[in-house]
Amino acid sequence: AVSFDPLVYRQDFPILQREVHPGRPLVYFDNAATTQRPRQVIQTIVEMYEKHYANVHRGIHTLADETTELYEEARRRVCRFINARSEEEIIFTSGATASINLVARAWGDANIRPGDEILVTEMEHHSNLVPWFQLAERRGATVRFIPINDQGELVLDNLDTLLTERTKIVAVTVVSNVLGTINPVESIIRAAHSVGAKVLVDGAQSVPHLVTDVQKMDADFLAFSGHKMLGPSGIGVLYGKREILEAMPPFMGGGSMIREVRLDGFVPGDLPYRFEAGTPPIVGAIGLAAAIDYLERIGLERIAVHENQLTVKLHAALAEMPRVRVFGPAPDKKGGIVSFVVDGIHAHDVAQLLDSVGVAVRAGHHCAMPLHKRLGVVATARASFYFYNTLNEIDQLVEGLERAQRIFKKRSERR
Ligand code: PMP
Repeated sequence: AVSFDPLVYRQDFPILQREVHPGRPLVYFDNAATTQRPRQVIQTIVEMYEKHYANVHRGIHTLADETTELYEEARRRVCRFINARSEEEIIFTSGATASINLVARAWGDANIRPGDEILVTEMEHHSNLVPWFQLAERRGATVRFIPINDQGELVLDNLDTLLTERTKIVAVTVVSNVLGTINPVESIIRAAHSVGAKVLVDGAQSVPHLVTDVQKMDADFLAFSGHKMLGPSGIGVLYGKREILEAMPPFMGGGSMIREVRLDGFVPGDLPYRFEAGTPPIVGAIGLAAAIDYLERIGLERIAVHENQLTVKLHAALAEMPRVRVFGPAPDKKGGIVSFVVDGIHAHDVAQLLDSVGVAVRAGHHCAMPLHKRLGVVATARASFYFYNTLNEIDQLVEGLERAQRIFKKRSERR
C-alpha cells in the first residue's frame, strides 16, 4: 500500500486543531460541501491584501502590474492543472454554479432552438439541472434524463436512443455529490460528439480529488469551484474549448469584457476577458492557485488512494451496523462520499447527534432532490472525505452512530 500520513498535512490546517464542543475535537466530514484551507492558502490571501492589492488590467502603476501578473499566473496554473491547451480557455467565475449558468445563457441562448433536447442525468446537483430547465423554458427545448440503477450508477445501455440529432448538449457530473459514483464521462462524451452534441462536465466533486485532463476527456466545457479544493470561496472556473468560446456571445456586459464601446454599441474583447465582466475575483483566483500548488505537492493520485481507504473502512463498518443503509456503488467505483440512512432516525437527527460528539456530516437532500426521489428517501446523512481525514476519525463517526442508535432505542422504549 502507498504510505500516506494525513497527520503531516493536518498541521497546516488551523481549523482542524479546534474543538467544536469541550473535549470534542472537530472531525470534519463535510468536504463535499466545502473543504478547509491550509495556512499556505490563508497566508497567500493575507499577503495579497497586505502587499499587492490593486485592480487588475487597468492601472499603469506598480501595484496594478503586480496584481495583474499574479492573477494571470493563477490562470496559467489552472490551465496546467486541468491540462487545457491555452489559458485563454480558462474563465474565472464565482463558482461552479456561475460557470454552468454562463454556458446555459451564453452558449445555450445562441444555440438551442425549439424542439432541441438537453440531456442530463438523474444524479445531477441542482446547479447542473436548474440552469438547463431555465434554458429549456426560454428556448422551448426539452430536458431528458439518463437514468440510474439501484446501485446508483448511470444506466447507459439506452444512451443511443437518448442521444439523437435533436440533442444539442449533454450535462453530466464526473462524481455524484451524494452517491460518490464516478461516471464514465469519456465514453459519454464520445457518444455525445458522435451525434454532434456538446458536453458540459460538472467537475465540482472530481477536480479536487481526481486527475483532470480536459484534452484527454475531450470535454467541451468543465465547471468547478475553488472552495471544494482548499481555495477561497467565491472563485470558480469555466473551461471551454477555444473555438466554442470564441463563437459564444458574451453573457454579462460591463468593464473589462469589451474592446471598444461607442454610443451606438460595443465590440466584445478577446478571450478570456470577454466572459469576465467587471472586477473579477482577484484574490480568489490567486488563492486558488496557492491551493493548486498545495494539492500538486501532495499529488492527486495519493489523495485518491487515501480517500479510498477511508471509504472502504466506512463502508465495511456501516455494513456491520443494523438498520443502516448505504447508497451508491462499492468503494472501488466511487469517490470519498458516503451517503446513508439510519432506519428510525431522521437524517437531521443523525447529523445533530454526530455533531454533539464533534463529527460534522451533512444531512438533507444535498441539492439533489430528483436523485433522492429516485432513491426513495427524503433525506440522507452524508460523510465526505479529504486527504486530511484519518482512519481514526471513521471510528469516531461509527461510535457516534452507535450512540445515536442507543439514544433513539431508549426513547422509543419509553414511549
Ligand atoms: N455540482 C456539484 C456536483 C456539486 O457538488 C456542487 C456543490 N455542492 C455544485 C455543482 C455547485 O458548486 P457551487 O455551490 O460551488 O457553485
